[in-house]
Amino acid sequence: MINKVLIANRGEIALRIIRACREMDIETVAIHSTADSDAMHTRLADASVCIGPPSAAESYLNKAAILAAAEISGANGIHPGYGFLAENADFAEMVIDHGLTFIGPSPEHIRLMGDKIQAKETMKKRGVPVVPGTDGPVQSDDEARAAAADIGYPVLIKAVSGGGGRGMTVARSEHELEEGLRMARREAQAGFGDDRVYLEKFLERPRHIEVQVLADHHGHAVHLGERDCSLQRRHQKLVEEATSPVIDDELRSEIGETVSRAVVDLGYQGVGTIEFLYENGQFYFIEMNTRLQVEHPVTEMITGVDLVRAQLHVAKNLPLAITQSDVRYEGHAIECRVNAEDPGTLTPAPGTVHTYHPPGGPGVRVDSALFAGAKVPPYYDSLIAKLIVYDQSREACLKRLKRALSEYVIDGIKTGIPLLQAITDNPAFAEGDYHTGWLGEFMEDWTPPTY
Ligand code: ADP
Repeated sequence: MINKVLIANRGEIALRIIRACREMDIETVAIHSTADSDAMHTRLADASVCIGPPSAAESYLNKAAILAAAEISGANGIHPGYGFLAENADFAEMVIDHGLTFIGPSPEHIRLMGDKIQAKETMKKRGVPVVPGTDGPVQSDDEARAAAADIGYPVLIKAVSGGGGRGMTVARSEHELEEGLRMARREAQAGFGDDRVYLEKFLERPRHIEVQVLADHHGHAVHLGERDCSLQRRHQKLVEEATSPVIDDELRSEIGETVSRAVVDLGYQGVGTIEFLYENGQFYFIEMNTRLQVEHPVTEMITGVDLVRAQLHVAKNLPLAITQSDVRYEGHAIECRVNAEDPGTLTPAPGTVHTYHPPGGPGVRVDSALFAGAKVPPYYDSLIAKLIVYDQSREACLKRLKRALSEYVIDGIKTGIPLLQAITDNPAFAEGDYHTGWLGEFMEDWTPPTY
């Protein structure tokens, strides 16, 4: 029985988990670095433990300190949130070895999906369409050249252990391939401690469509439809929506059922996201995320399923409370990620928030740990708030989103709100006519308003 959960995270996602736990009568323990002593997650949890100095390596990534915090606080479950240790199989294993429940899938599944090549292989075997590419890491430049000729240029050189939108290099010709391989291997070694790279067909104007799944320990899985996360800069998502403007009911069920079957066959448990690129009516699997996603709220808004509650439910070994026929999609939801950054250069802009006034009213949800006086430290991810807006149709949702963005006041630090406003004012976005490269192109001609 899980009755006290330690949240191995900070910021908005720590709050999201605290809220779900409280509604389920589960006690919560926050961990925090010395930079987060006054942070909202530290204040809101039933108990909090300081686990180290500001740097993430010494605090939120410090496995031993986190386990010690669980031990002294009497927590019997650990929720990793997203980022930090959420997809660290060794951490999940340590949690289990200490007799605690890891609120997430098994370490084996995390490990399997953490290796992008194995993940593709695993999905391909189960009938999931994958993006064309090499079957494994490329061992030599010669092998890469032959493979690229086979796949057809342009190709994408990807780090086997890559993540967070990093570790990807495009090569448009044999000449670019050589230089690209050198660079990609060097970056992969520096960033992920693993210099293995593989090749994939580079799709020029795909959409990023991902399918949410939920599975229990009893062989049941449901899918909760898709999210369209094509609005990205530098391969990182900025705006997400559900449903996708380009996926109809038939396509949704088709890809959803393929994915659910694969997940059941794998014996996977918990929430998971199967990510695809989608171009010319074709899905291409790219990876699976074995955790709660930043953008999970848009799915919650249109299905009414509370994904964090569902995670806790599954972690308690209970069978899923819903079957596929219970899943209904109603209305439309869009999420905007508000980052503490210069909207023009996209460089992080930490600091202290002076005035804070989040938007509200019907259909508006703000997931954030901000408050007036909050410090946004320079040590962590620059995501400070998620504005999620819901309405009956995409058109109405977009109107509501513009209204909500115009109400948002965050003074004292720079935020990406002006960029989000420019995107939502753009006719192409209004038409739903965008792809993963769209925002990059848009930003080339965009000048942010001066502060
Ligand atoms: P990460 O784990 O770093 O997030 P992903 O494999 O999920 O990496 O890819 C992130 C983004 O990179 C995708 O949403 C897409 O925009 C781009 N991308 C990845 N693979 C390809 C590809 N083969 N062709 C074109 N774009 C790609």
